[in-house]
Amino acid sequence: VQAILIGGDIVNHNDSCSDTSRGRALDQSINHSREIYDRLVQIVGHKGVVTDPQRIEAMTTAWRDGWPSEPAFVVQPASTAEVQSLVSLCVSSGLSIVSQGGNTGMAGGALPRAGQRDLLLSMSRMNKIRAIDLDDDMIVADAGCILDQVREAAAEVGRLFPLSLGAQGSCTIGGNVATNAGGIHVLRYGQMRELVAGLEVVLADGRLWNGLRRLRKDNSGYDLKHLFIGSEGTLGIVTAAVLKLSAIPTQSVTTIVAVREPAHALAWLRRLRRRFAVQLTACELIEQICVSITLRRMPDLSFPILNKFPWYVLSEISTFNPSEDVETAVAEEFSEALVADEVADGATASSLKQAKNLWRLRESIADAHRMEGVSFKHDISVPISMVPKFISLTMQRLSERMPGIRSFSFGHLGDGNVHFNPLQAADEPAEKWRGRLAEVNRITHDTAIELGGSISAEHGIGQLRRSELLHYKGGLDLELMTRVKTALDPGNLLNPGKVLYEK
Ligand SMILES: Cc1cc2nc3c(=O)[nH]c(=O)nc-3n(C[C@H](O)[C@H](O)[C@H](O)COP(=O)(O)OP(=O)(O)OC[C@H]3O[C@@H](n4cnc5c(N)ncnc54)[C@H](O)[C@@H]3O)c2cc1C
Repeated sequence: VQAILIGGDIVNHNDSCSDTSRGRALDQSINHSREIYDRLVQIVGHKGVVTDPQRIEAMTTAWRDGWPSEPAFVVQPASTAEVQSLVSLCVSSGLSIVSQGGNTGMAGGALPRAGQRDLLLSMSRMNKIRAIDLDDDMIVADAGCILDQVREAAAEVGRLFPLSLGAQGSCTIGGNVATNAGGIHVLRYGQMRELVAGLEVVLADGRLWNGLRRLRKDNSGYDLKHLFIGSEGTLGIVTAAVLKLSAIPTQSVTTIVAVREPAHALAWLRRLRRRFAVQLTACELIEQICVSITLRRMPDLSFPILNKFPWYVLSEISTFNPSEDVETAVAEEFSEALVADEVADGATASSLKQAKNLWRLRESIADAHRMEGVSFKHDISVPISMVPKFISLTMQRLSERMPGIRSFSFGHLGDGNVHFNPLQAADEPAEKWRGRLAEVNRITHDTAIELGGSISAEHGIGQLRRSELLHYKGGLDLELMTRVKTALDPGNLLNPGKVLYEK
């Protein structure tokens, strides 16, 4: 007997129903679901339909925040043609489609809704590197390829795919495209939008848009790929991508400095940019509490600065000249900054192991923060010049309303992107704090917008920030976004209730 999924419950095909109308309705529903199940199996084979509750639970549990999630069916197609057939089936059966890659997204975009007819379409079996061309300097990858897999494939031929983020061992290229992922190297290489040359996308009517071009220049009309990048599965299903490669630096120097306030962190960034220009490949701001909590949670990590300071700046300078003395140049900048009272302490990693330890620490902050329990997270961006003001003004406004509130903030200083995560006052009960989410969001997002910023820098909208998007976008922005959605997905088949509207 095959098991089929209805609203998340596995129903046995042999279950009998009573004669009541409720029973008949259930009968019809079961028959309809069984019919769909059989057609799904015809398209993707038994291997491609997931019924194991444990696997389904893993695919419907968010990395961090909880959202109720109950897919009607879960499928794992193995080819673009199968994705097209699935879309056609969903159109004719009234199912919606939620695309999923590694399920590492921070905004709940990859989770099917509860109690709706959402088909969870996991791209994990579409995981082949299709081609690497060194003259074009591009790699073509299926959407289900894990980011690390693409980085390793590039490294094997002596090239770099520069997208780098904490979830790179599990997130996928399709998810990276769909969220326009950022990470630590954006200030040098850009977000995913800058790294994508072409896309292959299955549209909401089942047709294939083949935009898998390897062009560096193409001004032949609207650049359609950009509609799909950052669209969080609401405009099309990305099945493959052409990605731009770069040279691997021959030398990378990792430095951490301690500063007393974010304004001094900005001064340090200014120095590094002036001295090293495009050689500056990462510049991260980290609040002291992030370091202490991460070290407590991950005891195998260490930190080179023994005295405690309120903030730290972790940076990486990469060069193509192995004999260039970057360390001395950094030390010169550090001495000048020390005299100017802009930095308080600092250390440069003297081995690859030490550098890796520092970057692991940075990339483990989100995980450590998650383990700490109830806290609110924001992913705002402001002009880089406004980062210090954003932090101080938001904390001041929050403290006036919620005395004792603490901040647990870190982020990509070089991109003006702050992961601003307030923690409750030490004596505030968790329940009371939970009830303050809307108020904290409003103050934080109002401040970001007031300073010319955005409520989402790199994690997207998903379901987490949908009401905030509707609150802030308004007017013509929202109208144009809705028109694009309606043009590409008039039946709202793709990821309803994420980013924009539910029905
Ligand atoms: C520890 C940690 C650190 C992180 N650090 C960063 C960071 O520094 N920068 C950053 O930008 N993000 C970061 N993230 C967030 C996350 O890793 C990225 O958003 C990533 O790009 C999501 O990829 P995924 O394959 O897991 O996508 P999923 O979570 O599966 O999906 C995310 C969204 O993309 C859609 N989607 C997925 N695949 C497809 C597809 N093939 N076609 C169409 N739509 C699709 C989904 O429907 C959903 O809306 C981090 C996450 C974690 C857990």
